[in-house]
Amino acid sequence: MTQTQSLSLEFFPPRDIAAQEKLVRTAKTLQGLNPAYVSVTFGAGGSTRSGTVGAVELLQNLGFDVAPHISCVGSTRDELLAILDDYRERGINRIVALRGDLPSGMGGAAGELRYASDLVSLIREHSGDHFNIEVAAYPEMHPQAISMETDLQNFINKVQKGANSAITQYFFTPHAYFDFVQRVREKGLDIPIVPGIMPITNSSQLLRFSNMCGAEIPRWMRLRLADFGDDRASIRAFGVDVIGRLCQDLLDGGAPGIHFYTLNGADASMAILPKLSFK
Ligand code: FAD
Repeated sequence: MTQTQSLSLEFFPPRDIAAQEKLVRTAKTLQGLNPAYVSVTFGAGGSTRSGTVGAVELLQNLGFDVAPHISCVGSTRDELLAILDDYRERGINRIVALRGDLPSGMGGAAGELRYASDLVSLIREHSGDHFNIEVAAYPEMHPQAISMETDLQNFINKVQKGANSAITQYFFTPHAYFDFVQRVREKGLDIPIVPGIMPITNSSQLLRFSNMCGAEIPRWMRLRLADFGDDRASIRAFGVDVIGRLCQDLLDGGAPGIHFYTLNGADASMAILPKLSFK
């Protein structure tokens, strides 16, 4: 029987040679997991744009099917079109289309496109059906949204502009994901919504990042993490256990796959992903 639930892996562009060597080592280790594709994040405001292209090239050379992320804030239409044309020439046929977030202090440079839905429209206008377009979804609501319902409507709008599938912000409560999927289905959309999964390797980093992106860490998890203090080995073991169970619950509940935020490291991915059973 062919497996229908897929695995995809996310990397970020390395900032220096040592980080680049680490990315290559990690990618080679994870190659054995046979991901359907790997994605590379894109820094808003120019921070890592050339880095994304460099990492895309590197991963393509290792034989991966690569999906670059593109965010539209801080870019002109022409800059975005040039990026799309460049990726097309490089044989890329899948893109993760995002609004992005401007770094603080760049308030005046928002760019010509306001929302990810505008970027999806631009990609479809310019490149027709060439790219498979993934968009972001927020089971626990995007932090700037006015309400769950308007955020859902904005998501639906983005899909209707031409997205093929969605990857979620990370979350730790499976029911938040299943509830979101059900609400999307009730609106008549059958787009695959793949859960984005964040491993737990460092509690202070996780707490900081979760505050920014609006991902809820359940109280019992916060308390367990607080108990571990600086004991990194125990944090990692706890993370492997909790995230492994989260992934399997999602797959068993019918998620179309897992999109794993590798953080450019192989340890958490290799401790969790080989043990999962995909249907
Ligand atoms: P949108 O879909 O445009 O939504 C942003 C906000 O605007 C939401 O609150 C939405 O409800 C609201 N909205 C949408 N349309 C309208 C409208 N017409 N009127 C009023 N309000 C509206 N960031 C990066 O910089 N680089 C990356 O590589 C990157 N990768 C990511 C990958 C994934 C899987 C996820 C989940 C996020 C990623 N992000 C990345 C973060 C993302 O850029 C931020 O979360 C950003 O704040 C929102 O991007 P979006 O594409 O979801 O925006």
